[in-house]
Amino acid sequence: MISHRSVIACLAVMLCIAALSAETIAQRPVSQASIPSPKSVLGFTPGDDRTIAGWSQITDYFERLDRTSDRVLVQTLGQSTLKRPLIVAFISARENILALPKYKEIQQLLADPRKISQTLHRDQLLANGKVVVAISCSIHSTEIVASQMSMQFAYELATAADADTRDILQNTILLLIPSPNPDGIDIVANWYRKTVGTPYEGKEPPELYHHYAGHDDNRDWFMLNLKETQLITRLLWHDWFPQIVYDVHQQGSNGSRFFIPPFYDPPNPHISPLLLRQVGLIGHKVAADLQAAGFKGVLTNALYDTWWHGGFRTAPYFHNSIGILSEAASAKLMTPGTVTVEQLARSSTRGMRNATEATTNFPDPWPAGQWRPRDIMKMEMIAARSILSMASKFRVEYLRNFHELGRKNLEPPLNKGETLAYLIPAGQARDEAVAKMLGSLIDQGVEVFRLDRELHVVLSSQTLQRTNAPGEKLGTYKINGPFTAMQEVPAGSYIVFLNQPQRYNVVTLFEPQIYPNRLTAQGEAERPYDVAGWTLPLQMGIESPAVVAIREPAHDRKLTLLKDANEVRADLALPLRNGDESPIKNPVKQPVRVGIYKGAMSNMDEGWTRFVFDTFNVPYSSIRDVDARQGGLNSKFDAVILPSQSSTQIINGNVAGTLPPEYTGGISEAGVKNLKEFVNNGGMLICFDNACDLAIKEFNLPVRNTLEGIRSSEFYCPGSIVALDIDNKNPIGSSLPPKLPAYFINSSAFAAAADANVRVIARYAKENVLLSGWLLGEDKLRGQIALAEVSVGKGRIVLFGFRPQHRGQTWGTLPLIWNALSSATPSSSEE
Ligand SMILES: [Zn+2]
Repeated sequence: MISHRSVIACLAVMLCIAALSAETIAQRPVSQASIPSPKSVLGFTPGDDRTIAGWSQITDYFERLDRTSDRVLVQTLGQSTLKRPLIVAFISARENILALPKYKEIQQLLADPRKISQTLHRDQLLANGKVVVAISCSIHSTEIVASQMSMQFAYELATAADADTRDILQNTILLLIPSPNPDGIDIVANWYRKTVGTPYEGKEPPELYHHYAGHDDNRDWFMLNLKETQLITRLLWHDWFPQIVYDVHQQGSNGSRFFIPPFYDPPNPHISPLLLRQVGLIGHKVAADLQAAGFKGVLTNALYDTWWHGGFRTAPYFHNSIGILSEAASAKLMTPGTVTVEQLARSSTRGMRNATEATTNFPDPWPAGQWRPRDIMKMEMIAARSILSMASKFRVEYLRNFHELGRKNLEPPLNKGETLAYLIPAGQARDEAVAKMLGSLIDQGVEVFRLDRELHVVLSSQTLQRTNAPGEKLGTYKINGPFTAMQEVPAGSYIVFLNQPQRYNVVTLFEPQIYPNRLTAQGEAERPYDVAGWTLPLQMGIESPAVVAIREPAHDRKLTLLKDANEVRADLALPLRNGDESPIKNPVKQPVRVGIYKGAMSNMDEGWTRFVFDTFNVPYSSIRDVDARQGGLNSKFDAVILPSQSSTQIINGNVAGTLPPEYTGGISEAGVKNLKEFVNNGGMLICFDNACDLAIKEFNLPVRNTLEGIRSSEFYCPGSIVALDIDNKNPIGSSLPPKLPAYFINSSAFAAAADANVRVIARYAKENVLLSGWLLGEDKLRGQIALAEVSVGKGRIVLFGFRPQHRGQTWGTLPLIWNALSSATPSSSEE
């Protein structure tokens, strides 16, 4: 989150840069001759085999385009996590580039129909506006080709003189993001250069390609934990409101050559059907253009769904915009690969039985053979052009549909008892979580109000209720909140109304998700593309009842619209955010030396653990495999954390021969022995989810994982929020409510023999376990141990069956980690 003052300063600078550049453009001769090609600058054409441009080469090329082309204006949005510039290139006709501020204003008016008072005014905006299209490349850095493609694509738009390109430039404004993860481009480019010509050429780098999030950098688009997400969210949903967002990805090597929407089931019920239809229309246009150009292996209606929220292409749906994804088959980074018919025949996913069989959604299978980065790049360029050409041809329709969706969202509910708003009552003793949640909402353009005077309301708790008999494997759930009597809500509370342009973003973030029971023909659970539930207040441990009636009419309420997170922080007497430093006070009640295990095998759960510790200013060191093997852990640490990872991965690491020797091998048996010594000597070992397995087996704990080996036809819970019963008399559970929502993602549950050394801190609830998402086989979870500590020698092992820090979103369960560390034994008392 960014402070209000720095936002204003930042905006002023950006406007200034834009104005200056526009002036320079006006003085420029209208000649395309001096525009350098990527080849003339890089020495190779982007997409050539075994070539790669790093981030400084990419930004340098875009700077040159900015200087030489009157169709291109480049802006720096800010700095990435590791301080690289994050840029966007505006590409349009010269006269549009000169008038960017005007078009930005039109977009802002269309995005909020309350700002348009007359039909005439609206029609003028529709007549004059341009369709704004954002294209983002290589958010996943190993899906590298699009970042290289971005230079060639920009060059072609800057220099082409044909009628089609001129139409596109006239009618659209392209926001081209060469990569929303600059750090990752360099991680991959440096690694690729280091390994090219070695046996490891084309392998993925053995580290997270985002400092904290790795692949999860594309799971952050409602939480806005990462700097990159914050900067681009501001560009898209505060400033420019693109009608179409195209996020360019790559998938595995052996399946379809290219996926493009329509998507697979289930759809998110809160995405407008009109948006889903428009997504499908654009997808089919791309597929048809690829077919016309002779490309085979294009797949639609498979694997990827619109259920989950938090992706680059899913956030737009909740801003009334069209989100498009493409997934090209990967080469080996920038090295060609070969795919055999047998590999294609073995490649199967929901919506595609195998990659050799022609079906309606996959009419022209690719015949196998060599697959080059150039193939990927050509398909991505056709797709990008196809989308822009649709935007250009149907300019008015796109603008009108976008505006109309926002307008419909303002209509009052039809029925009495429907949700009008969500309330965040004052006095929850969760101030940092409240500030974070409201700050994230405001940063993505959701309107949040503070009550400056009390309100009288009828509330509904909106909790999931099972409607079938216990013991049945498949649950049937409905959102069932009994209404309260009219009650007074104190001033200082916050309220988020549904009648705002982003109505369904609010609903989708506040309401519990009910994922449909989807089983395969064999009766196993059909895996969702990502998580099944994410309800934000539940993850953050914040009470947020639905408001179904308000006594005071609108003119009789005293409300203040909040501008940024710091306003909330000031209300709650929290230290203000200033620049990049997190203002949160370290919640651990004693100085404790923490080691977080970071193996050579990259692990997103480890990255998010570091993120959470950095955000809460809790000091730690990373423990590498070599450190674990060396031992002497008690002299360095009081507590060691094993983020969720399988026991095999922790012990064995990357297999020898797959990567350079320094990246292979895990902690090994020596590391296990040293961990045992560490605990026996008084250390605290904290295990998250899968890592509990290592402790249970290697330490022979009197505990077992009751879910181990269970088929998904019997039990399945993929990314959902479940209820815990907390023993808050135990120091680790202290100060927490007796019922606490926790994040379960194919996680663990334990049973323990009666043993004086095992203390249970939390159990999965005895009934109504599911709070949001999907839970098949609830009886397998009811009453099982979710969190326990086990005494071993002079030390303790803390077993978290669930993910207490999942994706940096589960602020509700973070206090369990801080409490555990607060109760660790500092070594000074040991020695
Ligand atoms: Zn991807």
